[in-house]
Amino acid sequence: MTGAQPAPGAAPVLVLGGTTEGRRLAAALAAEPGLRPITSLAGRVAAPGAVAGDVRVGGFGGADELARWLVAHGIRAVVDATHPFAATISRHAAAACAVAGVPLVALRRPGWTAGPGDRWTWAADLPDAARRLPRLGRRALLAIGRQEARAFAGVTGTWCLIRAIDPPTGPLPPRHELLLARGPFALADERRLLRRRAIDVVVTKDAGGDATRAKLDAARELAVPVLIVRRPAAPDGPGITTVGSVDAAVAAVRALAP
Ligand code: NAP
Repeated sequence: MTGAQPAPGAAPVLVLGGTTEGRRLAAALAAEPGLRPITSLAGRVAAPGAVAGDVRVGGFGGADELARWLVAHGIRAVVDATHPFAATISRHAAAACAVAGVPLVALRRPGWTAGPGDRWTWAADLPDAARRLPRLGRRALLAIGRQEARAFAGVTGTWCLIRAIDPPTGPLPPRHELLLARGPFALADERRLLRRRAIDVVVTKDAGGDATRAKLDAARELAVPVLIVRRPAAPDGPGITTVGSVDAAVAAVRALAP
């Protein structure tokens, strides 16, 4: 726990985190006098950064267990601030909140859109991206995350520079090199990386946000094609308030858990 102690009787708010927005949201909610953020992290990253308020780590054990956890902890609102590709926990959060009768705020950062000069190919999902990759380039930057690299294990015709925060586990493409690094990445560094490693295709998920978008700008400048994976569908329905920014999420929580 970091920051000031919450006031007695402050309303507990569960933040499903693991993202830059989750961390910023926890700080903003901790600064609200009547609220007590509890951030939940999956525990995938070996050394997550500091988070304001309380933190719990690890899966809940499915949607039913999450619903029980919400009731047991008297949670007044949940904010799903997980990564747009963390589809399972988002689905579980929607189901658990519906069962427990707890309002859910879904914080979904806008996706990226191509502009003039961009050479983007959209893939429906990771297996589709792996199928398309050999036709797009011989030397790929796989900037897709540690757990997803395994989807490219069958790619033999393209050498892959796999960038991830922690080393991937599971099968990997036979011709690859690992680059362990944590964003945000600056444009000048991305440009240098693409040039030095002679990258001729960049593979990314449509994560959105600024922290990892410099690779797209560098690719456009160097006329390098980008293979970009579409987001999975996000849950929607009654009881879910969808917002696109941390400020809007704070306002929504204030309205739901005054
Ligand atoms: P996922 O496939 O949607 O979730 C798999 C399981 O991990 C969930 O069923 C849940 O286990 C547990 N889990 C996920 N997020 C959790 C959280 N915040 N708190 C507690 N348990 C959580 O998720 P993922 O893609 O593995 O991502 C895991 C975490 O990393 C997320 O919090 C996400 O924000 C962050 N992240 C993901 C990506 C990405 O590209 N997927 C990128 C950056 C950060 P139970 O069913 O046991 O509750």
